[in-house]
Amino acid sequence: MSVTGTKETMLSPPNMKRGVRRLSSVIATLDDLSLGPSVVVPPQHMEQPSDAHETAAALEMAKRHISRISANEPISTPTTPPATSTTDAYAFAFDIDGVLIRGGEAIPEAIEAMKILNGQNQYGVKIPYIFVTNGGGKSEEERCLDLSRQLHMEVSPGQFICGHTPMREMAERYGTVLVVGGEGEKCRQVAEGYGFKDVCTPGDIIKDNVNTTPFRKLTKDEQEHSRKRNFGEVEIEAVFVFADSRDWAGDQQIILDLLMSKKGRLGTRSETFDEGPPIFFSHNDMVWATSHDHTRLGMGALRASLEAVFKAMTKKEMKSTAFGKPQVGTFQFATRLLQQWRKDVHGIDSPPQTVYFVGDTPESDIRGTNEFNESPLCENTWYSILVRTGVFREGTKPGFTPMATVDNVLEAVKHGIQREVAKAMKSQIIDGNGEGPGVILEEDQLQDATITDD
Ligand SMILES: [Mg+2]
Repeated sequence: MSVTGTKETMLSPPNMKRGVRRLSSVIATLDDLSLGPSVVVPPQHMEQPSDAHETAAALEMAKRHISRISANEPISTPTTPPATSTTDAYAFAFDIDGVLIRGGEAIPEAIEAMKILNGQNQYGVKIPYIFVTNGGGKSEEERCLDLSRQLHMEVSPGQFICGHTPMREMAERYGTVLVVGGEGEKCRQVAEGYGFKDVCTPGDIIKDNVNTTPFRKLTKDEQEHSRKRNFGEVEIEAVFVFADSRDWAGDQQIILDLLMSKKGRLGTRSETFDEGPPIFFSHNDMVWATSHDHTRLGMGALRASLEAVFKAMTKKEMKSTAFGKPQVGTFQFATRLLQQWRKDVHGIDSPPQTVYFVGDTPESDIRGTNEFNESPLCENTWYSILVRTGVFREGTKPGFTPMATVDNVLEAVKHGIQREVAKAMKSQIIDGNGEGPGVILEEDQLQDATITDD
């Protein structure tokens, strides 16, 4: 974890200027706080090494001070926080594979991290969060059930985006579509659940003409579930790669047949190779983290392969569209989801100042977060945190630089909370008690209340 300025240095006030009193926020009286100049220093327990529970509670206390100041309410000695409260200042968004889950099992620190966010700590401070994964192949509801079981907590579809979620908005645009990838009939079911009117699969096409894929024969199960139709009479208007292909050779053959066809009619060949249907990928991740020692090929690799073969055969560039991270549209989608989730579940109707995005893939998670943060479409701060539990390899330099790098998701949550504590305390020190200019600290003093990231 590359955080300089430990909690001790962060919370220990520097040498005070003459006439400035140190004041404990626990023992302070109303007069102490209203008759400046004064500096509020943290209570003793915050100066000791502590876990994130205490940190979260301290943040909530600091936030309450600031809320009172902005509302011009009188400041009194802090009391015990209520049983449950939710911070509105910030939120988290998590990638899943390589961050929370690896090889179908929860990464051990993930369960503790979720408990902290859910307010299962001494003071009951809750921090809203959502999940943004490029993965897919199941409905959002099914994936949330899996995640609930893996993380030992309830995950709602209302806080979940997967790679193909934005494809839902394209259901009205096309008639017959080809859906590729995933296990069995799953992706057809997902697409039909999204409202696509006529969904066919590579299995349907092979069932109609077994010579389509010389080396792939349908299994008994596939033969049973694939739908018989005459593709000589069908125009496929778009191709959607919903999830990772289970049969690259067969699926690529069928996709290329369509891309080189006249208006998506199988059996035809365009002379110009620009009459085929559009193709959409639910994401563009080249690799992903599994239980294997090395990363495995992802959908981005299939896309690269298709592009290379299409160019070799047609001398033209393949045109395609990818959703998912790092596309800015996915982060806009995530922004809307987070806003709705905070409103529906936590009763918060204002955007968070900061969203901490925790991911393991520099090319999608970190790049997407950074580029969205810098885009004019982003109205708050999106802060990228890279974890070392996924595709990241020690000794390598990420292609896109995160704002912080930590060992695992638990450290990421602690980092975000600690950073908020520092921000809240710094703000409080600068603002003083709301009735005067407060104490203006020298630059070197301010630095002691600041976390420096990568
Ligand atoms: Mg990942």
